[in-house]
Amino acid sequence: MRTRAAVLTDFDSPFLVGPIDLAEPGPGQLVVRMTAAPFCSTDWMGWRAMRRKVPPVVLGHTAVGVVEHLGEGVTGLAPGDRVVVAGTPQCGECFYCGIGRPDQCSVLMDQGDPVVAALPDGREVRAAGRVGAYAERMLVQRIQVHRLPEGLSDETACLLGCGVSTALGAVFRIAEVQPGQSVAVVGLGHLGLWAVQGARLAGAGLVIGIDGHPGRRELARALGASDTVDSARHDPVASVQALTEGRGADVVIEAAGPALATRQAVLMARRAGTVVLAGVAHSATEVELPQLQLTVHGKRILGCQNGQIRPDVDMPRWIGMLGSGELDASPFITRRYALGEIDTVARRSMALDDITGVLTA
Ligand SMILES: [Zn+2]
Ligand SMILES: [Zn+2]
Repeated sequence: MRTRAAVLTDFDSPFLVGPIDLAEPGPGQLVVRMTAAPFCSTDWMGWRAMRRKVPPVVLGHTAVGVVEHLGEGVTGLAPGDRVVVAGTPQCGECFYCGIGRPDQCSVLMDQGDPVVAALPDGREVRAAGRVGAYAERMLVQRIQVHRLPEGLSDETACLLGCGVSTALGAVFRIAEVQPGQSVAVVGLGHLGLWAVQGARLAGAGLVIGIDGHPGRRELARALGASDTVDSARHDPVASVQALTEGRGADVVIEAAGPALATRQAVLMARRAGTVVLAGVAHSATEVELPQLQLTVHGKRILGCQNGQIRPDVDMPRWIGMLGSGELDASPFITRRYALGEIDTVARRSMALDDITGVLTA
């Protein structure tokens, strides 16, 4: 099926926006026409060869769209249904789904990016994160698709499969933030700002937002941060200790990525505190940490892929909270772009000019 996509053919070069031939949906697969897709910072990193992407590839690991064609055996959906396509599937059959950890589902973590299309010259095209959202149509699997109710806009709902899942999952599923706890959030981009909202919802006593960008600190305060720290001017570890009677935060959520931010996140947690590490800089980044902090201080240092959410349980919950206004998505969507403007949205994401630019088709 002929469609149009923004294809990464060479790293650090303009995207090739043009026709691709999408494969027909096989068993358990479907074709979704994209209506809104958030441009994620992961994708400019992919574009700059900081992720293990293999061109030609269509980036974009989550989207909202309308079901067009169903492959064999797809149930519970019909053409015309509005759906969110999530980057992390839940196959329900692999080892990890079996132990209650669909964030590590083998379909995503072991099978990698599938070939879903071909360029007119015959070169195979992969779909990043098994979605390939920066295209007019996507070939995806039933196990990563969730039906959307009426009333939630496409632009709001498209944030579900990336930032909302990861950040709210970090707060509720991984850290299990308790009322009255102090929560420090390192990095106030899309992910960190959702973590701030999540911590407020969880009833945290102190919510400390840390970033060097003044506009983002201001936004964090509007979304529920009780305190902010300018990491460009002040030592974030000492600042968090000063706000927590010298102890450090009960919970730290790292949502920035650089190795230094990971290190600071561990150091600013109190003894026996909880640290959730969600940011990734380069796929090859290594982090250096004092051994004493990792051992004797008894900290719980936990990784975060897709917030360790249970998509079947959590997606309907987040959808409801976005619909009721309990979660506010409006400050996150800073600009809308057509598919042909992908180079602009990538550059603006990299320059921190957008919280989230949303591609629409
Ligand atoms: Zn699985
Ligand atoms: Zn993302």
